[in-house]
Amino acid sequence: MTQFDLNDDSLVVIVGSGAGGGTLANELAQKGIKSVVLEAGKPYTQDDIENDEWGMFNKISWLDKRISAGGWHHAVNHPGLPAWIVKGYGGSTIHWAGVALRFKEYEFKTRSTYGDMADANLEDWPLSLAELTPYYERAELKMGVTGKTTGMPHLPWNNGFRVLAEGARRTGRSNIASGPMAINSVDRDGRPACQQIGFCMQGCKVGAKWSTMYTELPRAVETGNCEIRTDCMVLKIEHDAQGRASGVLYADAAGNQHLQKARVVCVAGNSIESPRLLLNSASSLFPDGLANSSGQVGRNYMCHTTAGVYAAMPEKVRMYRGTSVAGIVADEVRDDPTRGFRGGYHLEFLSLGLPFLAAFLEPGNTGWGRRTAEAMEQYGNMSGVWVCGEDMARADNRITLHATERDQYGLPVPVVTKTPHNNDHAMTADACNVTGEIYDAVGAKAIYNLPAYPASHNMGTNRMSADPTRGVVNAQGQSHDVANLFVSDGSQFTSSSAANPTLTIVALAIRQAESIAAKMTAREI
Ligand SMILES: Cc1cc2nc3c(=O)[nH]c(=O)nc-3n(C[C@H](O)[C@H](O)[C@H](O)COP(=O)(O)OP(=O)(O)OC[C@H]3O[C@@H](n4cnc5c(N)ncnc54)[C@H](O)[C@@H]3O)c2cc1C
Ligand code: SF4
Repeated sequence: MTQFDLNDDSLVVIVGSGAGGGTLANELAQKGIKSVVLEAGKPYTQDDIENDEWGMFNKISWLDKRISAGGWHHAVNHPGLPAWIVKGYGGSTIHWAGVALRFKEYEFKTRSTYGDMADANLEDWPLSLAELTPYYERAELKMGVTGKTTGMPHLPWNNGFRVLAEGARRTGRSNIASGPMAINSVDRDGRPACQQIGFCMQGCKVGAKWSTMYTELPRAVETGNCEIRTDCMVLKIEHDAQGRASGVLYADAAGNQHLQKARVVCVAGNSIESPRLLLNSASSLFPDGLANSSGQVGRNYMCHTTAGVYAAMPEKVRMYRGTSVAGIVADEVRDDPTRGFRGGYHLEFLSLGLPFLAAFLEPGNTGWGRRTAEAMEQYGNMSGVWVCGEDMARADNRITLHATERDQYGLPVPVVTKTPHNNDHAMTADACNVTGEIYDAVGAKAIYNLPAYPASHNMGTNRMSADPTRGVVNAQGQSHDVANLFVSDGSQFTSSSAANPTLTIVALAIRQAESIAAKMTAREI
């Protein structure tokens, strides 16, 4: 791997190697632009992937100290684990399930569509679906998403999804499919077809599911234009007297600190660490944190309106066979205020393994009690849904720095505060009712509702807006305040939509790479 000098100030420095950072590094490298990726986690490879739920969770998750606060149940049931995020080479694209959905047009325009909703802080994206569509197509080709763009057939249905789909059909629904998924259904792009082993969220041992771990990152390195340094935690972004980002201070595995100079800095640490880094980079010139003249850094934290609904059927289902998310019912993705809430939700079939189902069924009461035991006895008969719905941006749902608690790097610990909006509560209730009706229609014997588990979709804490007083970055993810500082991950989302976020993160990273290249050539940055 090429090694760049710490004093090389011609480089793009990228913080994080996941969906946003890994894609950006490869896109820049293919254009001949040199970058260093600093990744706090370890250099995992496919040899490290085990088909073991807790084994993988404990190995690769971000378990550095974090605090949950606010009115969501995480403050009580997951006080130190607000979110489920990976710390490692490839970021959360190791854990992700592969659902690759696009936003709908109205989901980019929530403020104009929903109006000024009380207790929310809505904003329109400075982007439309039409503008993003060519980048969605490029993301789908890059990731290998089943469906029209690649021509790859959708994946086979498993038993669990057949049960859900039949219930959905009997209750009048028709938007039912086993895709789009960023999982090869046939051999493609040097990666094999899915083997239907069923541990997608533990990492795909064979590489059928897209992950930057074995696609974007090695391809970026192969060009000779990219160096990836793992076990390197970025502590602070430095700037010069004019307020331009000049480099980053980071700690290596031994705890030694280094200053890597940079021409451009791109932050892609996911939606808790990215705003935390900007807040930790406060200086006399930027006393409220870097890029924070709007006061929006860390605010508007979104993680989707979610819940689990698991139904015990009269006969064996064996939902664990096949891909973890084996299909999606999309009829509820629409804005229909007569339902008593704005925005919509997907019903995503999700096979949880026995250990995770036991842990998430009654989080405060893990593994104990009559209800849990009864449910576990019926595990082989279950089919289940994970609800993925739009949640509303609220200014006080935010990432802040703890006043006294420090992590192992000596940095203030992030506090993740979230209280769901009333719209989120109404949507959850509707989604649980609808899913219950669907499973009742096919004769479910019992239905178990699970509360949201630690947030796997984290968005919105450095949001885009055309208005520098209402958002942190512009339509290219470029900071309104610091021209050579970019946000390259899901924290730039202005709204959450009902779509899982990764396809949009990748599409934005492809688009951002073009923008950075053009601005570098024009010497604007
Ligand atoms: C179980 C699970 C299932 C999921 N399923 C889906 C799905 O089906 N579809 C979908 O669209 N999304 C899914 N997601 C979400 C998806 O993984 C994320 O949206 C996506 O990976 C986020 O990309 P990112 O670039 O913002 O951050 P990440 O991919 O999380 O990458 C961030 C990286 O930055 C590193 N980092 C952070 N701070 C620093 C720092 N200061 N210095 C150096 N490095 C740092 C981290 O270690 C990490 O490796 C799932 C997530 C989980 C956990
Ligand atoms: S089911 Fe398919 S995508 Fe999921 S882990 Fe197995 S091979 Fe990979």
